[in-house]
Amino acid sequence: MNNKHSDRLLHTCAWCAQEILEDEDIFGFGAKVSQAVDLSDKEGQFVSLNLALQDKTIFALIPSSSSAADIEGYDLIFITCSEGCAQSLKDALDLERDVFDEE
Ligand SMILES: [Zn+2]
Repeated sequence: MNNKHSDRLLHTCAWCAQEILEDEDIFGFGAKVSQAVDLSDKEGQFVSLNLALQDKTIFALIPSSSSAADIEGYDLIFITCSEGCAQSLKDALDLERDVFDEE
């Protein structure tokens, strides 16, 4: 995934795919993945996740080890445009906890 693409994903809601304008707030939240998934070689990159039950593909950022303190301890960071989208995404992830598509 090239830098330009990643840049765009940083300003795209992971749930509704709407562009987040620069002067708008970003609602990000962190999540953990199962121990079986090794993401250490993907730090600072986006990965796609398939939500099979929703027929939806979303993108998540793998924070690098030098990331800000408030996202420490999380394996994935999701970027959403609103609290509503953040909540919908959390609910969907709860339903599909085991579904993780590396590519
Ligand atoms: Zn949204």
